[in-house]
Amino acid sequence: MSHNLFETFAARMQARGDADFVTTREGRRYSHADALAGSARLAGVLVELGVTPGDRVAVQVDKSPEAILLYLATLRVGAVYLPLNTGYTGDEIRYFLSDAEPALFVCRPAVLDEARTIAGETGCPAVQTLGTAADGSLMEATASATPREAVEPREENDLAAILYTSGTTGRSKGAMLTHRNLGSNAATLVKAWGFGEEDRLIHALPIFHTHGLFVACNVTLMAGSSMLFLPKFDADVIFEEMPRGTVMMGVPTFYTRLVADDRLTPEVTARMRLFVSGSAPLTAETHQAFEEKTGHAILERYGMTETNMNISNPYDGARRAGTVGQPLPGVEIRITDRESGEEVPRGEIGMLQVRGPNVFIGYWRMPEKTREELLEDGFFITGDLALVDEHGYVQIVGRDKDLVISGGFNVYPKEVEQVIDELEGVVESAVVGLPHPDLGEGVTAVVVPEAGAELTEAEVLGQLQGRLARYKQPKRVFFVDSLPRNTMGKVQKNQLRQQFQDTYR
Ligand code: ATP
Ligand code: MG
Repeated sequence: MSHNLFETFAARMQARGDADFVTTREGRRYSHADALAGSARLAGVLVELGVTPGDRVAVQVDKSPEAILLYLATLRVGAVYLPLNTGYTGDEIRYFLSDAEPALFVCRPAVLDEARTIAGETGCPAVQTLGTAADGSLMEATASATPREAVEPREENDLAAILYTSGTTGRSKGAMLTHRNLGSNAATLVKAWGFGEEDRLIHALPIFHTHGLFVACNVTLMAGSSMLFLPKFDADVIFEEMPRGTVMMGVPTFYTRLVADDRLTPEVTARMRLFVSGSAPLTAETHQAFEEKTGHAILERYGMTETNMNISNPYDGARRAGTVGQPLPGVEIRITDRESGEEVPRGEIGMLQVRGPNVFIGYWRMPEKTREELLEDGFFITGDLALVDEHGYVQIVGRDKDLVISGGFNVYPKEVEQVIDELEGVVESAVVGLPHPDLGEGVTAVVVPEAGAELTEAEVLGQLQGRLARYKQPKRVFFVDSLPRNTMGKVQKNQLRQQFQDTYR
């Protein structure tokens, strides 16, 4: 029996027929049947371009319904979908193409010439744009190509996608995800979050990360529901669309912006049944403010490129602010000592490890890195520090790489940030460890002050005395207008460490 994930999707698309699959504000619309037929036409084009089972199809395109058709077509022909961040520059693309050796690179029209040059240098045999059906692109080619109705049989451990990690802690790594990984996760999430055919997802995330692609789109395909594709988060648009939606998936910055807006009311969110947040920590303040203003408790969940989603607050049951909830069905976790790898007692902080059908099979062409992080017993070392609290809910304490070890003491930046963020005149903060001659690392705070607040370093340091143990108190405080964040709202601490690296030298 074949385990091509596309077969599961195709059965749903067939059954849902003319019901909406993906729509846009500009009035573009693909029904489920349209998407099924469109994927067969695009699959025909892929085959004509020489894409064979197991080949990588690298895709760096703007968000559009056609990009999802291309994803489906790639699965249909048994090839491996490899989405790339639209923010990547030519040099980055050169690296990814030489690393992944795709059979086809689908790029944006504006960079076609450069893409052809890079493809030539890296040995990529074909470059195409995606486009709408009238501009020398894959979509145009669908008019003359023979549709390919057949679905290439796949084994459950065959690759469906390679997804590069966000690169928050170093160079991006290509996570190899199988048909089983993606299929089991989508099925689990449909159940866990109560998805049904009538759901309409407000989709304002990019589609080159696990969140916007494998969570949002796979769940929609698996449930036979629909989604509204928005190019980006825009509060004006979100407020207009919420009365017609049922679910929103977002990153914490979406919710902080909504909470700060007077238009956020119980009326405007009345038809919505679920707000999901992930990719970065949601503060307890935002969680509480959102609930006060709308009556909806945001469902926070935890996941990553390598594992899709693995821990989630419940759909039915208490959603606890500041936690990411409990392991999803089929997922096991353990919290281990960073050095010994032994499990730590309940309530203590340690390295979070996960195991389950959702966990990837390794990093593309990085066997050593794979061996380091994917243990023989199937557990994956996430690189995140966490604890299980008294309710059995998981709290993500921060990234192992962000842990500051100052004078031999562990300082968890998140704890210090939370205290700083409560100070008068502070919008937010990021705490990093910087090389320090005596302490090894010096705790350093980078603070965004409120507009007009005349905060000084001495004031911040003064206010922290007595509120934090001495070894946790920052040695220096710097002020910036905003923290460097990527498109998913993750603070880029590497950038901060670089910017202030010489502070104590
Ligand atoms: P890289 O692995 O290349 O350094 P990255 O880890 O940021 O980049 P992703 O796989 O996109 O790449 O992100 C997963 C990470 O995002 C998790 O390991 C975790 O640190 C963080 N994360 C995701 N959801 C949450 C959450 N709800 N709360 C806190 N952190 C989260
Ligand atoms: Mg990571």
